[in-house]
Amino acid sequence: MKAHDGMYIGGEWRAAAGTDLIAVVDPADEQVIAHVPAGTAEDVDAAVSAAREALPAWAATLPAERAAKIAALRDVLVARKDEIAETVTAELGAPLPFSQAVHAGVPILVAGSYAELAASYAFEEKVGNSTVYAEPVGVVGAITPWNYPLHQIVAKVAPALAAGCTVVLKPAEDTPLTAQLFAEAVHEAGIPAGVFNLVTGLGPVAGQALAEHGGVDLVSFTGSTAVGKQIGATAGAAVKRVALELGGKSANVILPSADLAKAVGVGIANVMGNSGQTCSAWTRMLVHTSQYDEAVALAAEAAAKYGDRIGPLVNAKQHARVRGYIEKGVAEGARLVAGGPEAPREQGYFVSPTVFADVTPEMTIAQEEIFGPVVSIIRYEDEDDALRIANGTVYGLAGAVWAGDDAEAVAFARRMDTGQVDINGGRFNPLAPFGGYKQSGVGRELGSHGLAEYLQTKSLQF
Ligand code: NAD
Repeated sequence: MKAHDGMYIGGEWRAAAGTDLIAVVDPADEQVIAHVPAGTAEDVDAAVSAAREALPAWAATLPAERAAKIAALRDVLVARKDEIAETVTAELGAPLPFSQAVHAGVPILVAGSYAELAASYAFEEKVGNSTVYAEPVGVVGAITPWNYPLHQIVAKVAPALAAGCTVVLKPAEDTPLTAQLFAEAVHEAGIPAGVFNLVTGLGPVAGQALAEHGGVDLVSFTGSTAVGKQIGATAGAAVKRVALELGGKSANVILPSADLAKAVGVGIANVMGNSGQTCSAWTRMLVHTSQYDEAVALAAEAAAKYGDRIGPLVNAKQHARVRGYIEKGVAEGARLVAGGPEAPREQGYFVSPTVFADVTPEMTIAQEEIFGPVVSIIRYEDEDDALRIANGTVYGLAGAVWAGDDAEAVAFARRMDTGQVDINGGRFNPLAPFGGYKQSGVGRELGSHGLAEYLQTKSLQF
């Protein structure tokens, strides 16, 4: 797609207030592919005004009308799915088949789920002598990261629109073209002017202006824990609603009764899929001491097979950061069994699929979020030891448990301090609430729980 040189505000593309630009780089070959405007507080202010103006009429629409608009948006995304996949591949670097299946496919599913939920959700209920109404929170400031550029946008905008909220989006600076394409889709779907607005720009400028804006009623942020803490503090000081989807360091717990080869194979694929740039990726593989050597050999083989099929990391900074973590793992005494810190290609921000064995729970690579294609295999002695290791980080976003039967895996999963667990390779469910325990965040996205984030309750007594 061709980049827009303005902001999508009040139903039209408007010139940006300033003249600064952000260069969009293809991480596979390090070439600049486009420029978008770097928004300022003035652009954010204009977008919030447009969203406030559109709010009363949109909030007053019948749920069925909102459902129809979201269904129309889903249909535009379906019609433009190839363009979406190509755009994500160009600015994020994900291999095209992955972009088609996941980066384009998942947002279509999620948009469809909110078209249905908007129509079926109980926005009104009777409780004794009261009628309780679920009403929109108001104007939403949505701030999204680059790792799943369209999914993160749709996971906020679709439920916000279903609830009757209006939105100002500030997408990640690395992936603004996908956000512009989404704004085009909103326009094409006939969503009324001002209901959705887009301001591209830098986090500490446009992002911060949006998070601090007095005209925003709820800030929904996905990104790093460091920025999330700042946004939470700002929102708290203003007594403003906030939803935070932050980092993760998820455990893939393989119990001795599990199908080891399957658990290891799926575990490696789970991390390598988006070059490890998945907040919920199972980057710590926990294996019983009796099966440890076999698991290490299987993991090394599975990672090596990935080889060239893996995409680059998003930018030069992440490239340096991830390679730094791999060097740190070696320095702290972990044993490299696949990959390593050397860049496998001369051009592009590529990192080889990397597996570490002999990782102990306190090592940096077992504690901090690397956000690259790196798996740490950790040994445990018994189930209590596995649980202590699984729960032994500041994060609690996701995880996996494998066992001979689901009941055994469920019993373990119920003891994990984490928001989402896949049992024996359970499939992705777009209606299942997603979000973190501990420092992985506040609030939930997807399904009816995700919709509830954008609603506030009013009760009338009779
Ligand atoms: P980031 O926090 O640097 O940026 C996320 C977004 O916040 C971007 O749009 C950025 O421009 C904006 N931002 C940056 N500084 C800001 C500020 N001071 N005020 C307001 N906005 C600001 O994170 P990132 O590097 O883009 O993304 C990677 C991180 O996101 C990882 O830690 C990952 O785990 C996390 N993540 C979490 C989830 C989840 O659902 N829990 C999903 C995807 C990514």
